[in-house]
Amino acid sequence: MSESDLQDNNPLDPGDNSNLASGEGHSEDAPPFVPGLDGDPGSDQEEANNLEESTPVESDAFNAHVFEGQFEPNITSYQIIWQGSPNYWAGRGGNKIVAICDHIMQGSMESANSWFKNAASEVSAHFGVARDGRIYQWVRVENGAWTNGIMNRPDTSLPWLAEAIQKKINPNLLTIGIEHEGLTGQVFPEAQYQATLWLHRNLIQNYGIQPDRQHIIGHYQIDAVNRPGCPGTGFPWQRLLTDLGATQPKTTTLTSSSSSGGFLTGPVPGVVSGAFGPGTVNTNNAYVRSYPSFGAGVMVLRKLPAGTLLKFIAYTDQGAVYKGNSRWYLIDFTDKGGWIHSLMIS
Ligand SMILES: [Zn+2]
Repeated sequence: MSESDLQDNNPLDPGDNSNLASGEGHSEDAPPFVPGLDGDPGSDQEEANNLEESTPVESDAFNAHVFEGQFEPNITSYQIIWQGSPNYWAGRGGNKIVAICDHIMQGSMESANSWFKNAASEVSAHFGVARDGRIYQWVRVENGAWTNGIMNRPDTSLPWLAEAIQKKINPNLLTIGIEHEGLTGQVFPEAQYQATLWLHRNLIQNYGIQPDRQHIIGHYQIDAVNRPGCPGTGFPWQRLLTDLGATQPKTTTLTSSSSSGGFLTGPVPGVVSGAFGPGTVNTNNAYVRSYPSFGAGVMVLRKLPAGTLLKFIAYTDQGAVYKGNSRWYLIDFTDKGGWIHSLMIS
């Protein structure tokens, strides 16, 4: 790496933060989706500039194939209404989609919509299904939404999730997230049920997802600590699985090229796993990256203020060298994951 590379990629320099991304859905400090929530930053902040698409419908690769409603004779068509969100990762880091993760909004479709469109919320989902059957889309299926990435006592009886944990792959890169309007425990109206059935069926067909309980999961299976009620007891598991023609669970393995510490992009050499920290971020605008290097293709996941306390699940001494130091730490997924250079940690 040349002197100028280092300058351009100085991790201490905020530089171009157009690629700045952050967080993974349902962050602990995210307020619930309360309609008309006072101080909702969605109302007067600039939103449109950041949105991936501003035109409704027909803008997503997924949409084109599935408008016909060919599976429900009594329903002629569902329209997926594109809304867009700035909160996503471009691509899935080479990972194939393995599962659908279902959620309950704990609020209304419209408050979720304004929340997901707001960059400050740092959360999103691929789809949302309203109680009247409308379907919104915020993130293209080929991209990773920030909806369920924080693992907290995850369900390791799911083989693919256990493998993801072992390989340190963020589950947002492996799942399609579907939110549902309503409160935990509420029974779905028929219109909402039919719409989400149609959506599940099409996603399963289009993305080769196994129609079984190992691959159609609830958020609580990724975060049992903070999201035990997502999607909650009102979610029609039995009916949905029956209508989807669920099969006996078929174990899948991940196709990712990541093998050790590959948070997003390829295997990381020299990874030593374990519990490390806590460490304190010692500079403002400390960059958290998708891979322990400054190279092209490495995403800046977020930047942290000085004083942030972090726990780590691994380190490598074979990351990109900065000021003679090649050690990088992998932040614990309960702290949203990502690699940070050791010189930014005290
Ligand atoms: Zn959820």
